[in-house]
Amino acid sequence: MRQSDWKSVLDAAARAALEHLEALPDRPVLPASADHEAIRSVLDRPLTREGVDAARVVGELARDLEPYITAQAGGRYFGFVVGGLHPAALGADVLVSAWDQNAPMFAGAPGVSVAEELAARWLVDLVGLPSQSSVGFVTGGQMATFTCLAAARHEVLREVGWDVEARGLPGAPPLTVVVKSGAHATVLRALRFLGLGEQAVVSVACDDQDRIRPDALQEALATIQGPTIVVVECGNVNTGAFDDFDAVADLARAHRAAGHPTWVHVDGAVMLLAAASPAMADRVKGLDRLDSWSTDGHKLLNVAYDCGIAISRNAAAHRAAMSVQAAYLEQDNAARDPLDWGPDFSRRARGVPVYATLRSLGRQGVAELVERTTHLARRFADALGGSGYARIVNDVVSNQVLVRWEAPDGDHGRLADTVMAGVRAEGTAFFTGTTYRGERLMRISVSDWATDEDDVDRAVEALLRHARLATGR
Ligand SMILES: *Cc1c(COP(=O)(O)O)cnc(C)c1O
Repeated sequence: MRQSDWKSVLDAAARAALEHLEALPDRPVLPASADHEAIRSVLDRPLTREGVDAARVVGELARDLEPYITAQAGGRYFGFVVGGLHPAALGADVLVSAWDQNAPMFAGAPGVSVAEELAARWLVDLVGLPSQSSVGFVTGGQMATFTCLAAARHEVLREVGWDVEARGLPGAPPLTVVVKSGAHATVLRALRFLGLGEQAVVSVACDDQDRIRPDALQEALATIQGPTIVVVECGNVNTGAFDDFDAVADLARAHRAAGHPTWVHVDGAVMLLAAASPAMADRVKGLDRLDSWSTDGHKLLNVAYDCGIAISRNAAAHRAAMSVQAAYLEQDNAARDPLDWGPDFSRRARGVPVYATLRSLGRQGVAELVERTTHLARRFADALGGSGYARIVNDVVSNQVLVRWEAPDGDHGRLADTVMAGVRAEGTAFFTGTTYRGERLMRISVSDWATDEDDVDRAVEALLRHARLATGR
């Protein structure tokens, strides 16, 4: 084997990584400059004929890009829904890279395959899902939803005698997909990938917290014949709200009993982990009665990007939708082969950081993560809602807050953008906006395990300072 100077490469990477992580509390959340030309000019070197020493490349990459790296794991990044970085996840991720395992099959990568299998068991157990559920580790919530909906498509068509994997959709019995109005863009995109069409859905009205209205779902189901897939949410991207899973499960059972094959998928990208917290038990009641669940490792669980998780009550349907056989593989029927549970072939051992993070947090640590982020979201809501400058639009039931900045001139949307831009430019924190029920609002997502009360208070101080500046009040 050719020898490499691993030490100098790892030293260069570790030194730069450590400097980045230790500077997180003090650096601006967004890079001071994000000028496309400037970034290009520091990186745009001639690709030389003879190449460059690896350690030097890594050292220079770190030096050149560091000014343009976002402090995503720094406790005050509240934009979109973006997790931070748990130390156990980082450590495991370094090992996953160093081990360079191609992990589709137990035969080629036995160690990491078993670690993934255990991570899957722990997670299913932690969130109280049916113990026989199958699990696939994929790149994110998007692909987790895709995987689960592929399993759903398989099963509801199989029940009417149609093998969708073999025959495809042309000529298939009609299949109806029911989503919530305002369903997450990735749900519609998954339907597009599955040949079901973004617009071929039945959209069901929600209540004022963007929870699906069970009465509206009941009405919709009454008009639907044959194979039916319903998609609900555990943690809405705007409000953080939970659908009424018991009500949805009852309606699905009745629809099934009326002779229509039915599958309910739960998009749990934001808050599937809530089911690991006894304090949230009321909110997730009935979650375990549904058929599949997608979530993210890289959001609330705080593993490094990227990691999504697809869970299916019906392992046979999951496997039928995803599995692949080939003469040149070594598939082990006794062990779990990761390629049976997701759309990838060659793949990174994404489940290993999940194993490490769950083990490090423990049951209590996971519950505390849910409860702490929810508590901090409420701290934001109380401080901003009581300030006289803002109104909280949602019931803060998990880690998401919707804020209306109240402009004296009535242009609340513009004030929200001004306040967010001011805080962003000074680097104290990072927030993003949304349009909710036609109105431009600021969103807050507390998804970083490192965020503490001091981070929230500093962000609140900055927000209110910019609101005062902008309104002159
Ligand atoms: C983030 C998110 C997704 C998509 O997850 P990715 O990991 O970004 O692919 C899906 N649904 C909801 C509700 C989300 O917040």
